[in-house]
Amino acid sequence: MALSSSIINQIIQQEVLLDDLSDDDLASFCQTANLTYRTGKPIVSDQDYDFIYLPALKQRLPHHPLLQSIEPEGQGFSEEKVLLPEIMLSTDKAYSWEEISKWIERLEKSAVEIDLELSLIQIKATPKLDGFAGFDDGTRLYTRGDGKKGSDITRVFDRGLHVYNDSERGQGAGEIMVKKSYFEVFLSQDYEYPRNFQASLIKEKALDIKAQQAILDKAALFVPFTQLPTWLGGINELSNQFERIVENVLSTVDFDVDGVVLEVTNDDLKIQMGANRKFHRWQIAFKENKDKAQVKVLSVTPQVGRTGKITPVVELEPTLLSGATIVRATGHHYGLVKEQGLGSGSVIELIRSGLVIPKINQVLKSAPVDIPEICPSCGEKLQWKSDFLMCPNHSICPAQVIGKMEYFFKILANNNGFGIATIEKLYEHGIRKVSQIYALSIDDLNIMDFGEKTCTNLVNQLKRSTSEQIEDWRFLAAFGVARMGTGNCENLLKSYPINTIFELNLEQVSTIDGFATLTAQMIVTGLDSIQSEFELLSQYHFNLELTPLQKYLAKFTHSLSGKKIIFTGKMSGSREEMKKHAKSIGIQVVSSVSAKTDYLVIGEKVGQKKIESAEKFGVEILTETDYLALIKLQITKK
Ligand SMILES: [Zn+2]
Repeated sequence: MALSSSIINQIIQQEVLLDDLSDDDLASFCQTANLTYRTGKPIVSDQDYDFIYLPALKQRLPHHPLLQSIEPEGQGFSEEKVLLPEIMLSTDKAYSWEEISKWIERLEKSAVEIDLELSLIQIKATPKLDGFAGFDDGTRLYTRGDGKKGSDITRVFDRGLHVYNDSERGQGAGEIMVKKSYFEVFLSQDYEYPRNFQASLIKEKALDIKAQQAILDKAALFVPFTQLPTWLGGINELSNQFERIVENVLSTVDFDVDGVVLEVTNDDLKIQMGANRKFHRWQIAFKENKDKAQVKVLSVTPQVGRTGKITPVVELEPTLLSGATIVRATGHHYGLVKEQGLGSGSVIELIRSGLVIPKINQVLKSAPVDIPEICPSCGEKLQWKSDFLMCPNHSICPAQVIGKMEYFFKILANNNGFGIATIEKLYEHGIRKVSQIYALSIDDLNIMDFGEKTCTNLVNQLKRSTSEQIEDWRFLAAFGVARMGTGNCENLLKSYPINTIFELNLEQVSTIDGFATLTAQMIVTGLDSIQSEFELLSQYHFNLELTPLQKYLAKFTHSLSGKKIIFTGKMSGSREEMKKHAKSIGIQVVSSVSAKTDYLVIGEKVGQKKIESAEKFGVEILTETDYLALIKLQITKK
């Protein structure tokens, strides 16, 4: 039975929760959603359909025909179907790194079968366009149809549609797309999603003026897959930098994309892997898993951070999302809790994208909230600061004092042992500041009831943290001053050496590029507040790597200044010295080859792999001699 449009609306608006729908109503809703998608006017997003409604249907009615059928493209075309020049298979999909790594295992297995060295497998990654699929044989344009037969929609080219990059007709498979930026400005008033607009371009009826204009403006285009920007690399790089590669590929085009297509480029391997009825085995699409669920809130607990901010921690009914059981999420701040009614018994929409921490997307059903009046750590009366609830007792509140000490070691990141449990125990024994921790001896720790082994270990870790070299900006950031994160600290120390920062006035700090007046003000006040602790800690002679000053860097006029360079192989002198020198003259020394690397400087006995990947990314290769000539400097041999 068909649902009334008001119920459909309530489901879309999540005013009616899925749990409250009968099985039949849920099925009807999915059918309606599917139908509207097919006609190019979807009532829900693909995401919601794929990740909320279909899974719910699957759970309740696993044998529903909607879940079995491979849906026809169907409605909208009156034409007879014609045979496609080539079979267009669909792409297998993966929603997690685990699935991708299984695909890679299959590649490797097939490679072994044909004696192809694993290091020679090349993978291509391109954005997965979310448009209207077609095949252009140079004369006619077809819809993908069922993969074998499609409809002739050559009329879109007759209407003036251009091919992406002003390239030629006849490049095979691709998609009809509209540029995202253009859609936002000119079309979003009239069409809900780019997809609706893209579908409207191929309709038999005459185009409206906006569609004609978009074609004229080359904002609506046919994008052959061969024209897409590409990442190329080996299996190792893909495995090591998967998330970064996906992120980069997704950002390369101004079109709606819903994932990344990975495929093998080696012809022999492609033949070996072949295809099944539905898709090529040498190709897979990674779609970011924006998993969503409607979850009940059990309780909301206040947690005090190192700055005094009270964060509402939302305890949830355990929920399986993207392969993990989620039991809590952050409520961000109490302003949100109050405004949205995020109390025990409320229902939220929980969303998880890839491997990222799950977050509360919205409150679907509110409940009375419990706003704490006093700090759960120190009992001080809490204060509102815009949306945030704060404990003002910064110097004494245990949670804040402990949080600050923990933060110091976390940012330093060159020692082990000073996690929250250790710090809490130190606090119980009267330790309130990091400088007191550095003053501890094995005997002191012994008295505090740490085990013998732990005492030695902790003292060794403290020694290690002062002797291992760390960047000066990291050391400064570890003090946890507001607006003095690692980025701002590095920026500050590019302009003023670390031994002068406590003498700086507001004017000096605010003239630094990137610091607005308010930031500068907070930095000056913040520095003042840490000066004595900074001086106490300086007695332990941390091994600081000093940030090169901008004014000196600016003097470098050699052609490699500011370039990203990798040094590899055996050099005539010490490679470490060479790197150090390069940094000191404004070169950015990096450790792995990527598309952003400018030069690979090679010594003797260089691994073939480094050279191959440099060639793959088009990174210029320099010998040590070339390099030295370019910077016109000799490095003293050791
Ligand atoms: Zn407190």
